[in-house]
Amino acid sequence: MAQKLIQPLNNAGITASYKWGTKYESSYGFTHYGQDLVGLFQTDPDAVYAQGSGIVAFAGWDNVCGNVVGIIYDEAVNHFDGGSYKVVGRYFHMASIKVSQGQRVTKDTQIGVVGATGQYVDGKHLHVEMDKDINYPNYTPTLSGDSNILKAGYRGSSDTSIDPMRMMHCKESHPDYQYIKVMNGSDWVDPRDAQIPHI
Ligand SMILES: [Zn+2]
Repeated sequence: MAQKLIQPLNNAGITASYKWGTKYESSYGFTHYGQDLVGLFQTDPDAVYAQGSGIVAFAGWDNVCGNVVGIIYDEAVNHFDGGSYKVVGRYFHMASIKVSQGQRVTKDTQIGVVGATGQYVDGKHLHVEMDKDINYPNYTPTLSGDSNILKAGYRGSSDTSIDPMRMMHCKESHPDYQYIKVMNGSDWVDPRDAQIPHI
């Protein structure tokens, strides 16, 4: 049975969404292919967890995106289109990394700590990308040139990135008790259009 990926931060605030980033594009001149999360409230707000069961495809210091981890998840549900498939999740800018390449992980595995490492970072946050092309897990449309770990663009004929919102579920039950808010202006509000199912 396909798994439902959950939030990488148990208490998360979304500060920038997939391909939604007027500020992003005006500041940096490129499209935002990920989702930016910050830790909110409670204890250990900066612990980054794997979003489900999978295997670490890469982990280490990238010259552009700082401490990065990529996880290839076992078949996972896309709650937007109803499909399920393996996806790669990429996590950038972490302060530190707690997993290594080849390691099996579950939603209870801490993979790192939220940070502000690498370039194009104006504050501590977690940048998350999701991509269907698990054959090239370290290729990201975020980069326009190759770095040491991450490579530019995508392979094949089309953009294979997915809005992380469509793969993510908020696990409100024991033991995770997850919580999600979205930045709207200067206020934290509930996600407006129920894009994140609660489980
Ligand atoms: Zn980002």
